[in-house]
Amino acid sequence: MGGRDATMVLLDENGIRCDGRKVDEPRRIMIKAGGLKNADGSAYIEFGDNKILVGVFGPRDVHPKHMSNTDTGILRVRYHMEPFSVGERKNPAPSRREIEISKVIKEALEPAVMLDKFPRTAVDVFIEVLQADGGTRCAALTAASVALADAGIPMRDMVAAIAAGKVADTVILDVNNEEDQAGQADMPIGYMPNLEKITLLQLDGVLTPDEYKKCVQVGVDGCKIVYDLQKKALQEKYFGDGGD
Ligand code: UDP
Repeated sequence: MGGRDATMVLLDENGIRCDGRKVDEPRRIMIKAGGLKNADGSAYIEFGDNKILVGVFGPRDVHPKHMSNTDTGILRVRYHMEPFSVGERKNPAPSRREIEISKVIKEALEPAVMLDKFPRTAVDVFIEVLQADGGTRCAALTAASVALADAGIPMRDMVAAIAAGKVADTVILDVNNEEDQAGQADMPIGYMPNLEKITLLQLDGVLTPDEYKKCVQVGVDGCKIVYDLQKKALQEKYFGDGGD
């Protein structure tokens, strides 16, 4: 963040971004529910050039037993980036960033999942980032919600996620890797559209109070677009159509 590449034109005089998008235009999003036969639920997402696979297992017994909770089920999330998912090979050992993203995705999913229905059990969510291009936590959270629904885990709502941000003093939707590196702010948002509740909100960068409010609004509106695609992916798998 903060203009590391001063030569890059992030927004041209016609309001077009470095990858040809308009300010309020998300990248191409493709979501597929299912696909992994050994998982209880799964999903695959392409979010621009991000490619992410999610497998869900459970509710199942917790080992070691003392980790279980007699009052409720527990949710465990592992976000993992393949070493080949980024330009410069990533060390396969879990990084601080992967531990942080696992934690924020878990906390963003918890309000959606009815864990109280499965005391003493665990639901495990494994996220594999095959290719990364900025915004993997939002893409992963979106796919994880679909995989949980595909596993038949009772949920209050699905969490849809996308980032808003700021480049060239302008609020934009869906920050790509270049915009994340050279732009002014990146605000990943997770939102449950039916319940109208935000479950993830992070901010890297500096915004004025008005820009902050605009980013939240743009992000929430973007989540509604993502939500429709999540529902379509599930409808395609279970009813053989996209619900149109
Ligand atoms: N990235 C990278 N190498 C790494 C980690 C991240 O090249 O070891 C890139 C990757 O494209 C990622 C982007 O940096 O999507 C932004 O990372 P950030 O930590 O902001 O999380 P994200 O935007 O993916 O949720």
